[in-house]
Amino acid sequence: MYKSLCKLEQTFAIFTVHHIVMGDILEQEIKYLKGVGPKRADLFQRELGIATCRDLLYYFPFKYIDRSKFYNINEIDTTQAFIQVRGKITGFRMEGQRFRQRLIGIFTDGTGVLELVWFRGLQWVTGNYPLNTEYVAFGRPSYYGGKLSIAHPELEKADKEDSLMYSPLQPQYSLTEKLKNSFISSKTIHRMIGQVIQQVTKMTETLPVNLLKKLKLMDLDEAIRNMHYPESHDKLRKATYRLKFEELFYIQLNILGQKNKRQSFSQGIVFSRVGDNLNSFYRNKLGFELTNAQKKVVREIRKDLGSGKQMNRLLQGDVGSGKTLVALMAMLIALDNGYQACLMAPTELLANQHYKTIAGFLEGMGISILLLTGSTRKSERELLHEQLLSGELHILIGTHALLEDTVKFSSLGLVIIDEQHRFGVAQRARLWKKNDRAPHVLVMTATPIPRTLAMTLYGDLDISVIDELPPGRKPIQTIHYYESKRLVLFGFMRKQIREGRQIYIVYPLIRESERMDYVALEEGYEAIVRAFPPPEYCVVCVHGQMKAEDREAGMQMFIRNQAQIMVATTVIEVGVDIPNATVMIIENAERFGLSQLHQLRGRVGRGADQSYCILMTSYKLTREARKRIETMVQTNDGFEIAETDLKLRGPGDLEGTQQSGMPFDLKLANLAQDGQVLQFARDMAMDVLAGDPDLSGTDNQILRIQLRRLLKSETDWSAIS
Ligand code: ADP
Ligand code: MG
Repeated sequence: MYKSLCKLEQTFAIFTVHHIVMGDILEQEIKYLKGVGPKRADLFQRELGIATCRDLLYYFPFKYIDRSKFYNINEIDTTQAFIQVRGKITGFRMEGQRFRQRLIGIFTDGTGVLELVWFRGLQWVTGNYPLNTEYVAFGRPSYYGGKLSIAHPELEKADKEDSLMYSPLQPQYSLTEKLKNSFISSKTIHRMIGQVIQQVTKMTETLPVNLLKKLKLMDLDEAIRNMHYPESHDKLRKATYRLKFEELFYIQLNILGQKNKRQSFSQGIVFSRVGDNLNSFYRNKLGFELTNAQKKVVREIRKDLGSGKQMNRLLQGDVGSGKTLVALMAMLIALDNGYQACLMAPTELLANQHYKTIAGFLEGMGISILLLTGSTRKSERELLHEQLLSGELHILIGTHALLEDTVKFSSLGLVIIDEQHRFGVAQRARLWKKNDRAPHVLVMTATPIPRTLAMTLYGDLDISVIDELPPGRKPIQTIHYYESKRLVLFGFMRKQIREGRQIYIVYPLIRESERMDYVALEEGYEAIVRAFPPPEYCVVCVHGQMKAEDREAGMQMFIRNQAQIMVATTVIEVGVDIPNATVMIIENAERFGLSQLHQLRGRVGRGADQSYCILMTSYKLTREARKRIETMVQTNDGFEIAETDLKLRGPGDLEGTQQSGMPFDLKLANLAQDGQVLQFARDMAMDVLAGDPDLSGTDNQILRIQLRRLLKSETDWSAIS
């Protein structure tokens, strides 16, 4: 009895202690760790954003070096990246002159001899590594002066292998220059993590137990330990999977939760009628058949509009695939049901163009349509505001100006947003607050987004894709030329101009090198004018540093076919639609990203004539630049290009990621590689929400808590930057 009481007390004592320690250690600042202190802690905070011990445990290795294998010296050649050998140092010798001395340790395991070489800390080495003691030497082998050697090996006593600290898979943590300069190595970080792991009894689980069981996931404690001290390849794989799943799962839970919430708050306006406007447009105005892809998307949109739920749909399709037309048809449905519609574009130029196209299509139908941009005059504005509020105005097209509070609709039923990635989520939200009842929203983008990225960035939207171009388009031919082909290029340009075609020449403009870039543009322009002199030719130059009037004048000359060549920066990336322009020449193409190259190429190929995209580069190309150019030459498919782009750059650099408003700081998961895990995580999140939409079940408490924590840390982070 006494014994068992004692035992109970002990258990209890252990339990309490473990509770306190566990809570404490993870939230503790890392400066309290052995060998860290305030200065280093500060550095970790600034360089890696690591403040607490928990942050440290979530700083995962970027790779592991397999140290489960020992080599015999006679097996070593220099094809192995890293090797480890067990053996003894039989003697030291010095070589080289003063100041350039090196220390050589003769290392043998009985099968051969290996030289261990040090260039620094010579004294320390001889003092700390006694001869004829069993060591494990680890490093990158090479031949130097015909002898096998390892420079600055990691050397440890063979019997010192501390059972916790030792792992056959050695994690490598990435470091910044500043950390390296402060003598912090991957090993230093590993040791710090080791200290924390030894003190933590058990990490509190962050996924519901039922989910862990159902999906056979490793628990958090075991996963975190195995990330830093893998017991085996298999355990490491399971640990990685579990943590990746968790990361993606919470993102999806957040997005889908928001979507649910929005749909339950805001009842959708029901557009039940297909009325005169759409019918007469379709029969009398549309001079062609819709493509099958367009028909499919129109059906999807009509279904949304009649569903009683608010539509939030992303429409993806390459430039020229006919998105605008689909958007126009959706607007007509809104009008047929007695509602107004608006379309918001990212630039004035684009808004203008949409206005012209749409007004052209709707001519004679008795539909009132106006344009609102930053340069709309005050008097016009006042009239516009009035007509908008009285319901006299049916369709409003414009830029950000539409977001202003003074812009009030009488009955806004549909919002179309073109080129989504330039508007943030917050801006989207402002637009649909313009009504008591949230209007339907259709977002169009010509930047195809890989599925995995779309599920993450736009996971709250339904997605439609137009993956087919209208018939009769000839695929654009893309050609890569080095500088040496300049004269060939000029010949080709003359020929195109003789045939009546027009040509774009685009120069890169990057903020960091802006001044130099403008110089290159000016010089390029002058060279082109010399090669294509007036009066036979007319070359215009258009860029962002010009006065708006001058820019507009240049643009107009090109649009009216008074100029055959337009030299420009990427101001023409989105916008202008000139079917007669058939050649897009991109200078220094190696400096553009893939999606930008693809966007630029989309400026041509809009008419019936064969179009060309010519990528000019220097001979020196990085491996990635070469891959970008090759991809462009090989394919016109925007989705394929987007996938390659994602693989080359990683999602962090893709446009729009910063605007996602989601906890998007992925530590482990990679959207380019983990598509399957992502899909699975999304399905599971949907499952959970289907059973418990507001996560109020006891099993799901943990989800709410963790979600709140993740969102909070994300907000804090953005407040700092
Ligand atoms: P996007 O907005 O996707 O760039 P647009 O809607 O502007 O594409 O269409 C590009 C051009 O193709 C326009 O001139 C449009 O009138 C035309 N177009 C659209 N759909 C079709 C179709 N089904 N058949 C023929 N031409 C079409
Ligand atoms: Mg368009």
